[in-house]
Amino acid sequence: MLRHCLYCGRKLAHDEGLEHLRRGVRVSFDPARERVWSVCDRCHGWSLWPDDTSHEALPRLERDATDRAHLLYQTDNVALLEATGRELIRIGRTELPEEAWWRYGRQLRRRRAAYHSRLSMLGAATYAAVSYIGSNLGLSGITGDFYPPDDLYADIIRWRWFGRTAWAGRAPCPQCHSVLIRLFFYRTRFLILLPSAERGPSIALPCSRCDPWTVDKVHRLDGAAAEQVLRRVLAYHNVQGASQDELADAIRLIETAGSAENLVSGLAAERRSLFGLGRIRRLALEISVNANVERRRLAGEVAELEAGWRQADDIAQIIEEELA
Ligand SMILES: [Zn+2]
Ligand SMILES: [Zn+2]
Repeated sequence: MLRHCLYCGRKLAHDEGLEHLRRGVRVSFDPARERVWSVCDRCHGWSLWPDDTSHEALPRLERDATDRAHLLYQTDNVALLEATGRELIRIGRTELPEEAWWRYGRQLRRRRAAYHSRLSMLGAATYAAVSYIGSNLGLSGITGDFYPPDDLYADIIRWRWFGRTAWAGRAPCPQCHSVLIRLFFYRTRFLILLPSAERGPSIALPCSRCDPWTVDKVHRLDGAAAEQVLRRVLAYHNVQGASQDELADAIRLIETAGSAENLVSGLAAERRSLFGLGRIRRLALEISVNANVERRRLAGEVAELEAGWRQADDIAQIIEEELA
């Protein structure tokens, strides 16, 4: 195994052995041709391991890739996996089901830990006291209107983590032409998910001027903007993160839908408000929307990896022929 990148000289490993590779360095392996590379996290160059060390490492890599791996994305030639805290690039297709959403589930568990940390709670208690004094003096509460009192902590942490504004721009109501220029978080529980021809769902805020209201009298956001706002708004509402059980329920919904894309389009077809979705479906929606963004990012990344592999494979072949 090489401790330094062949191309740019960056240090890739502290010592011999897979476990000594620096974080961020990916390991690529081709079980059929018995080759292993380190992929540099700076220049993306593929450094081929010498034969003896790759023979030693291959069985373990293959074991990690089949028993403990989550498949993030694959093409016909290259699979990107995450196993034991490291990203592996396996040459050749695997039979594992793709589960990019798994990474996002882990993030929701971390958010739960941050939310329940002493420091967060202490901060929230201080702000709650200030807000209470403020309202007694006739000032308005710091987060606008709170929902039930037991959600006071959640609302204050929301305010401290996300601020007040979810989106700013211009979104006219097609009926009365009143224009929404700022979407405050406290109104976002009334946001409706709508089907869209573009990537991701559209979101819409019911017009407060139109009476009687119907589903087309809305301030509507589409495309990338809608997706970006939806990610922020869902993180805001799901500020408590998710427990292991809630996560399992949410993931079951995604699996039943067949994919993250299906879950999002299925919920959008119901035209429900975020509030009306309920907690587990809201979690499943956050996981799915983020997984879809991640999947597009991975698709680009894996295409680049595939190009890198073709080049590295050519070089490996030349070296082999020269040494034969
Ligand atoms: Zn390098
Ligand atoms: Zn209107």
